[in-house]
Amino acid sequence: MNKFNPTFLVRDNIKKLRPYQAKEIPCKIKLDANESPFPVKLYDLISEVNIPLNRYPDPEALKLRKALAKKMKISHTNIMIGNGSDELIYYLILTFGGPVLYPIPTFAMYGIIAQSVGIKKIESKLDNNFDINEEKMINLIKTEKPRLIFISSPNNPTGNTFSTDKILKIIDIANKNSSIVVIDEAYQPFCSKKGFLPFLKDFDNLVILRTLSKIGFAGLRVGYLIGNENLLKEINKVRLPYNVDALTQYIATVALNKFYAQIKNFITEIVRERNIMQKELSKIKDVKVFPSEANFILFKTKNSQNVYTKLIKAGILIRDVSSTIRDALRVTIGTKEENREFITVLNNILGG
Ligand code: PMP
Repeated sequence: MNKFNPTFLVRDNIKKLRPYQAKEIPCKIKLDANESPFPVKLYDLISEVNIPLNRYPDPEALKLRKALAKKMKISHTNIMIGNGSDELIYYLILTFGGPVLYPIPTFAMYGIIAQSVGIKKIESKLDNNFDINEEKMINLIKTEKPRLIFISSPNNPTGNTFSTDKILKIIDIANKNSSIVVIDEAYQPFCSKKGFLPFLKDFDNLVILRTLSKIGFAGLRVGYLIGNENLLKEINKVRLPYNVDALTQYIATVALNKFYAQIKNFITEIVRERNIMQKELSKIKDVKVFPSEANFILFKTKNSQNVYTKLIKAGILIRDVSSTIRDALRVTIGTKEENREFITVLNNILGG
């Protein structure tokens, strides 16, 4: 039989595509993926579980949507659940197409998904303070007519939020130019500023993306989209029939209905630790820390790749983001003990 080589069949835009980097490097302390260090105990969540596994899950994920709606004081008809918010980004791009506009550096999946479905992506550089260049964005909206605009606020990997006024202006201009604006609020639970939920009633072209991944349930894969019903109706056409499995729906619903206080306490603890970490990092010689409103911190240091490797040798995994931001590393907030150990080891590496 001929040795079959699939490469020549691959679509051109996929040939050039670099997959999302999520390497699993076994380390004692894992601070690389913006997860929560605090799991709600699985047994507590499933102690009374009785799911008929011979049946398909609820295609509408009604109980989970209602549980989320109650927490956010909105209607469940304004919510769509995805297998992680990644899947919802995919559905948005599949439904509305492009061009897709987003500021960079930001979360890699906007670009990866646009490219994988063969849609033009337009990247607008953030300024030196990692803030949005409002004039440039507005110009691009008017000239390039993007169908979708993704704004991650707080932004990954920079950790800052963008000014509310600037974003509102962008949403308004986008509205007048028939563009949809997706505010990705994956890190909103850790943010001191209000998010964009209150503005949903003012703008029909505004969609908000949230996730349970950063608040203790990355393993479940639950993302959710909040927007007006007409918009969700269109996206629902491309949604795979049973995109959220029965166990996930069940566990996430129980978590929200019965363990919300615990989840909130964990978030408070992460924010407290982030503020301590921020101070501790800023005391280290040769480290430049960027302010964070998320569950991770971006910092720059000399020889960042060397520092990254030495941390792994000491059993601590963080994220090397130097390919997108020179000399930069991103550390997720862990438990108090993990954070202290990280600071001690980093101090030792940098000779502080
Ligand atoms: N948006 C942003 C800004 C993120 O940083 C991430 C995760 N790294 C996601 C979305 C995807 O999250 P999920 O686990 O819900 O797919």
